[in-house]
Amino acid sequence: MLARLRFPVARSLGRRHPEPEHPYRNAFQRDRDRIIHARAFRRLEAKTQVFTPGLSDHFRNRLTHTIEVSQVARTAASVLALDEDLTETLALVHDIGHPPFAHAGEQELNRQMRRFGDHFDHNIHALRIVESFEQRYARFPGLNLTFEVREGMAKHSRDFVPGEIPELDEYLPGLRPPLEAQLIDLSDEIAYNTADLDDAFSAHLVDAGQIAAEVPAYAAIYETIEMQFPGAAQREKFQETLRQLIDTLVSGLIEGTVAAAHDSGADSVDAVRQYPHRLAAFTAASQDASRELKSFLHRHVYSSPALDQDRRRATAMMADLFQFFLDHPERLPDDYRARTEAEPPHRAVCDYIAGMTDSFFHRTYEQVLSPIPPQS
Ligand code: MG
Repeated sequence: MLARLRFPVARSLGRRHPEPEHPYRNAFQRDRDRIIHARAFRRLEAKTQVFTPGLSDHFRNRLTHTIEVSQVARTAASVLALDEDLTETLALVHDIGHPPFAHAGEQELNRQMRRFGDHFDHNIHALRIVESFEQRYARFPGLNLTFEVREGMAKHSRDFVPGEIPELDEYLPGLRPPLEAQLIDLSDEIAYNTADLDDAFSAHLVDAGQIAAEVPAYAAIYETIEMQFPGAAQREKFQETLRQLIDTLVSGLIEGTVAAAHDSGADSVDAVRQYPHRLAAFTAASQDASRELKSFLHRHVYSSPALDQDRRRATAMMADLFQFFLDHPERLPDDYRARTEAEPPHRAVCDYIAGMTDSFFHRTYEQVLSPIPPQS
């Protein structure tokens, strides 16, 4: 497969603070374990992915979503003969910088920061978490992760050119990340599109007929499932179809990446880095399927009245709490309050709120502002 393009752990640029090697875990395996043991990782459990808990205990949260991304990415890395440890580590850390209330929370934090000419970006926040906010080691701040893991985090959603994002200039701007890191964004896309469809089906926001009518890739699979299992329940037929759809997308990612790597002529990790665009790619058919799925979800799920109501509620509460701590920095926890003396207060307030789980946010809001009205 693509073993020639695998990033060898021995070539890692290493850690900021040199450490002795572990007797049986290599550097990427240790990074994976450091992430799993981090507090920010555990908090993913109480952060919304798309659907807020309350209606059902079956919806994904950010932790179960992360496990699904990891499963997809490891499968692809393993078939492609890439470094599974680096891939798994990057999958586990990919959403660690997400604030409460999913995308709405991220947009609102960014909107608040823009009032001060600043901004919030969950990938950069993730780097700050692993570089300084996690305090588990006596000899250095943060988790002291290897360069390649930090680089993969910096380039999770996109690559950048020198000077474009000054705070990321140490992460080889202008170059592609290793193929292991390139797999994460597309694995994320497979995981969230299919999981959101599943959760939307559970929430009765969409039904099988509607999906089949608007997503040809789903319809093609659904037709054969209906012939194969005419007596099966709606839910069973939906699950059978979804399962095969995930398989189609993962296979498409694997085949597309092999084809792109082949066409590029890249024969080494350095050639992957130098190549003008990323080599991790869907096949044309799976790219279409992914795009159809995404636009279906935008039309019927993300913009649905139920989710829109959640979103507006979360946005308003976040704006209130942000303003409250700006007005009352004395109510911040000691370490954040201390930071407001040395740096702009909006930065400390943003970091404090960004680290919150949805449930901690709610408790804090009730403590300092007012009882939250029950959801209608
Ligand atoms: Mg994700």
